[in-house]
Parts: sequence; C-alpha cells; structure tokens
Amino acid sequence: MNKPLQGYPNKVDITNCDREPIHIIGSAQSHGVILACDPHTFLITQCSENSQNLLGHEAKTLIGKPIEVLLPRDYLNQIPAHPEKFTLPEIEIFNTAFLIIAHTSEKNFVLEFEPVGEQIAPVKFQEQLSRILSELNTANTIAEITSRAAGLVKSLYGYNRVMIYQFDEDWNGNVVAEEKEEYMESWLGLHYPATDIPKPSRDLFLKQEVRMISDVGYIPAVIIPQISPLTNKPLDLSLCELRAVSPIHIEYLKNMEVGASLTAAIVLNGKLWGLLACHHNSPKFINYHQRQSVKFLTQIYTNALSVISTRDFLAHSEKASILKEKFLGELKSFNVLSEGLSQEKFPFTSLVNCTGGALYINGSLHLQGITPSREQVEQLVKEFLSKNTFDIFHTQNLEKIYPPASLYKDTASGLLCINIGEMGEDLMIWFKQESSQDVNWGGNPDKNAVEKEGILYLSPRKSFEKWTKKVSGIAIPWAKHEINLAASLRESIIHIIVRQQREKIEQLNTNLRLVNEDLTAFGYSVSHDLRAPLRGISGYATILKERNYPILDDMGKKAVDIILRSSGEMNALIEDLLNYAKLGQTEVALSRVNLRELVLNILEILNTSESYKNTKIEVDENLPACIGDRRLISQLFLNLVHNALKYSAEMPHPEVHIGYLKEKLPVTYFIKDNGIGFDPSLEAKIYNVFSRLVGDEYPGTGVGLATAKKVIEKHKGDIWVETSPGKGSCFYFTLGNT
Ligand code: ADP
Repeated sequence: MNKPLQGYPNKVDITNCDREPIHIIGSAQSHGVILACDPHTFLITQCSENSQNLLGHEAKTLIGKPIEVLLPRDYLNQIPAHPEKFTLPEIEIFNTAFLIIAHTSEKNFVLEFEPVGEQIAPVKFQEQLSRILSELNTANTIAEITSRAAGLVKSLYGYNRVMIYQFDEDWNGNVVAEEKEEYMESWLGLHYPATDIPKPSRDLFLKQEVRMISDVGYIPAVIIPQISPLTNKPLDLSLCELRAVSPIHIEYLKNMEVGASLTAAIVLNGKLWGLLACHHNSPKFINYHQRQSVKFLTQIYTNALSVISTRDFLAHSEKASILKEKFLGELKSFNVLSEGLSQEKFPFTSLVNCTGGALYINGSLHLQGITPSREQVEQLVKEFLSKNTFDIFHTQNLEKIYPPASLYKDTASGLLCINIGEMGEDLMIWFKQESSQDVNWGGNPDKNAVEKEGILYLSPRKSFEKWTKKVSGIAIPWAKHEINLAASLRESIIHIIVRQQREKIEQLNTNLRLVNEDLTAFGYSVSHDLRAPLRGISGYATILKERNYPILDDMGKKAVDIILRSSGEMNALIEDLLNYAKLGQTEVALSRVNLRELVLNILEILNTSESYKNTKIEVDENLPACIGDRRLISQLFLNLVHNALKYSAEMPHPEVHIGYLKEKLPVTYFIKDNGIGFDPSLEAKIYNVFSRLVGDEYPGTGVGLATAKKVIEKHKGDIWVETSPGKGSCFYFTLGNT
C-alpha cells in the first residue's frame, strides 16, 4: 500500500471528491513514464516507478543522474526554449519507440515518455482532418452538429460508445448525443448529477482539454520521491498526459464496465459547456497525435456550436419580437387594458415556453393553462411577489426561495414574472413545470444498479436517480430570449399605461380649466352685480343719516349706523373678491416696475402718516426694480404692507420694514413687522380665500393673502413666511422673472 501523499487525502469519496486535489495525485498511468528534472542542470529529480518496465532503468537509480542516461545529449539539444507543452522527435528506448512530451510545471521540467503506438499515415491523417472540417461545418442545428460530432469520433477513433454531454447551470450533465455499438444499452437523454464530474476535474479540463485513460484496470506507477526537491511540494501534474486517475473515478468507470476512456472538454466562450466522452469495453490507447486530432475536432465542433447558438439566439429573439408585436396589436382592439391582456384569442402564455400563466390586475386574478390553484396563486402574489420590488423576476426553482411552492412544484417550479403596475401591484406571471417530469429513464432499471458498501451512486442508473432527486422542484431555465421578451413586453405595456394615463390627465385638466374659468366668471359677475344694490343701500342710509338723524330715536340711529358700517364692510369684501376674481381672467402684462416708487405711493394711499403715525416705516433705499404686471404687483404690495401695518399697529413700538435680501438670487423681497404674528404651522391655511386667524377686532375680509399668492403664482414666483405669535411676521416672496 502506498503511503498517502502530502496534501492528498487518505480516502476520497463522494463527500470530499469536490475538493479532491487530483492534480497532485502523485502517480502515473502504467502505459508511460513521468520524469521530472532540473531545467538548468538536467539532473533527474523525480520519476514514476514503471520506468524499469518501459525504459529499462529502475526509477530510484535514475534519481540524481543526468538525463543523458536515457537520452543522448545531441537529442536534448533539440529541446527548444518553449514555455508551452511541446513534443520531441520519436526515439527508441529499450526496443520501444517513444514520443516525449515536455512541459514546465512550476520549477520542474517534466518529460513524459509515451509509446508511439499505432502510427497513422500522414495522408490518412490529412483525410481525417478534412472530414472533420467538412462534416462539422455544414451542420445546421445544434442537435445535428452534436450527433455528427459523436458519429465522427466513433468512426475515426473506434471507441465502443461516444457521448456528448452538456452541463446545466448547476453542472448537472445531460447526454445530448450518443453513438454506440448496437448491443449496448442507450444512455441518450440520461442526466447525471454534478458530483459525477466534480469541480477539480472540471477545472483540469480547462487546462488540459483531452484526457485519456488507456486501461481502467491499470496499476498506478508512483512517482518517487513524492516531494519535488525543487519546490518542496508534490509535483503538479495538471498538464501531464499520463497523470493517474482519481480512485473514485476508476470505481465509477468500472461500475459502468468501461475498460478505457477518452474525454475532451467542450469549451464555449471560456466556459466548460460540456464533454465529449468516449468509452471502450477493453483497454484502448490512441497516441498523442490522434489525441491532438480529437482536440482539433472538438475545437471545430465548439466553433460551429458557437455560430449556431448565436444564430439560434438571434432567430429566437426575432421570432419573440414578432410574437410580442402581434400580441400588442391584439391589445389595441380593447379599450380596457386588463381585458386585452387576458383575452383568449392570442393568450399571453403563448409568448414563452411555459405550462401556464396568471394575470393579477387591480386585485383580481385571471389564470391561463396549467397553474397552481387560485388560492395558491393568490397566496404567492400576496406573500411573496407583492412584497418584493422588481421589474422582472425569474427563477427555475421557486420552492427554494418561496418554500410553500413545494406543494405545487409539478405546475410551478419555474416562474417568470413582470411587474406592469404603477405601484407594483399588477403582475403578469408565467409558470413552468418541474423538469425531471419531462425525463424518463429509458433503460432496464435493474441493470447497473450497483451497491457496494452502501454506496449506491456509482452507476449511470443510480446517478440518474440521484440527479432526479437533486433536481426535484427545478424547471428547465428560462431562455435568454424569453427573459428579453418579457422585459420588453413590460416596457411596451407600461408605455401603453402611461399614454392612457396622460390622455386621461389631459382630459381632466381641460375639464378643470373650463370649470375654473366658469367659476371665475361667475365670481366676477356676482361681485360686480352686487355692487349696484349695495350702492343703493349705503346711498339711502347716508341720506337718512344726513337728513333725518335728529328725529330718529336711539334704536333708529343705531340701525342707520349699523347699515352704513355693514355696507362699508360688504363693499370692501366685494372689492377684494372682484380683484381676486379678475386675477383669474387677466393675462399678465410684464414691464419693469420701480418698486421703491410703487411702495412709497402705496404708503401714501394708505395714508400712513395719519393712520399709522406711531409706526416706524422703513423702505430699502435701493429696493431692486422687478419685471412684472404693474397693477398686480401694486395689489400684492398693498395687501402685504397693509397687513403688516394692521397687525402691528397695537404694539407699543410698531415697526414695518419693506426690503430685500442682499446677495440672494432670485431677488427675494420681504415685508417685515413686529406685530402679533401667528402660529407658523398655520401658514398653508392663510393663503385660502376667507381664511382668517383673527376675530372682528381686526378689520379684514380674508382675501388679501389669497390674492397675493395668486399674483405671485401668475409671476411664477414663491411666497413664504417666518412668524411667531407675539413676535411679528416676515413675508418673503420672489417673482419668477426677476
Ligand atoms: P385679512 O383681511 O384678514 O387680513 P388676509 O388674507 O390678508 O386677510 O390674511 C389672512 C390672515 O392671515 C389674517 O386674517 C391674519 O390672521 C393673518 N395675517 C396676515 N398677515 C399677517 C401679519 N402681518 N401678521 C399677523 N397675522 C397676519
């Protein structure tokens, strides 16, 4: 029994094979010799123990000797300075013709001695290559090219079974093509779990694309010493053709009754797409040149695969976009979008490859095709989909992220969903059934069911069962063109919704404008028509007072006074309302307005020197002019200045300041007083018509600030206030054009 190698586990089984460091396995396959030497001195440092049989020298006698013991110096002089793997000319050693394959592994120069084996005539070789090129470059579909590749490999290299398997996103494999001897059971369509080709093997396939096991029953030839004196580590065999095989893989092959294998990596866009796997019933060796031609074949196959899959993707995308346009066309004949989306003539479920679908619009659910029950879908929407914010969401394994879905994985393991609502409430959902339901085991279920020491997985049958268990609840993934279609359908639907909403808003706006115009006109005419009778009332009351006051009794005198005062108040109210109503109808006539002049004029109109003689009034000398409608601006200042004077007049030292904030743009004017102030939280309220925070002790109509705000809006400006009860107020405003 060999001693375990440093860094290599004692026992490799299904629990740790995903971490098995197979690149430092420490031994060679029996049909060739691995030898390492110092690249500077060419002294041999390590050698596999089968050198006695193949090269006629015991490994331990070679260690420390110059390489000339095996190869003549002038032969070695042909070694090019080459960083990549390369081959040396064939040479006869110990009566056998060898091909030497050399490469550098860390600090070691590694030479692999491999028998030349059966030679192929150059003409035949040429023929092989041109057959590969012509057969693979003329296939039209992935299925066709894949089956041709398998057929070619079988006929060119003579293995009993040739398979191509493709990996899914989780590295489970699916046999997509097979060529085999007639008597063999077919494995086509079989699925394998990812553990059958664990990560370390997959990684190595990216480094060394073709791998041969010439005899599954071989006895590994241990490399001695196991630790390289040049690196103090086991020799890294990642690039070795002759690297020994993981015991677990040998076990696997033996259980499938495989005698030899050849595997080539199919690498698409830098990623392992799948494997070309050849099995032979008995030991089989094909030489390095033949293996290179397998590599060539795989590359041609991969290129064609890439071209066809790109072409297929474009064709699918084009088809999807035609379908989408047709579906949107169908929508046009419906006034209500939700009815169009759920119509049965061209169901939305025919847009992608799905088993059923659901529409959840405005809280109501519509189901199409095979779906979970109505209650289950409602629950899925409420508990999961509505709680997450997304435009588009897709999964092939719903139960993993939403466990209650395990109850209906047969109908909804795959889910593709777009959010077509404004507030994330409306959803279009497609469902796809779990994929293992699509797959049937074609062969005899009892055959190959190997059980050894309780381990049941090392056979295709058991692998398939393991895979079926593993992929329970998983659907075939949504294709990229389907996801793209769903995303662009979402955009189109949102676009339709936005357009419909815009049209609705425009209609509402027009209605609102009309109503507003009517109201303003009504307000204007009412205020206007009230003036005449009011003039009559106050005129006759004045006459009554002037002529008959002395003969009236107390009650009569009081009545005349009240009529006169009330009609005065009503007149003020009508004036204010009329001004306010007029505002809605007037267009602003912009001009440059000298504000200082305007303010001084207003102070005169308000007769401040008489009416507010205790108030200290300050107007900024250089109050900037503004661009505005002179009449409206005058109204604005009149209202604000009047309020400032009115609400500060009772203070012991009333002060009013009309000014502007220096160095602030846009120009910000203010009217400040030290009067009664008010609770600033009421600011929004005071701009409403008839809204007053004071009682009758202060005359007023409650229209002044509403008018002021409207004037400012007409000038595209802003108004706001800083105030505090008992401490005064400061009204600020800007005018859009200034
Ligand atoms: P009014 O004719 O009552 O003054 P306004 O529309 O001009 O109507 O003002 C609305 C209310 O805002 C007023 O009733 C008053 O309570 C409050 N207000 C307005 N300006 C001031 C101010 N400078 N100081 C204190 N309160 C004010």
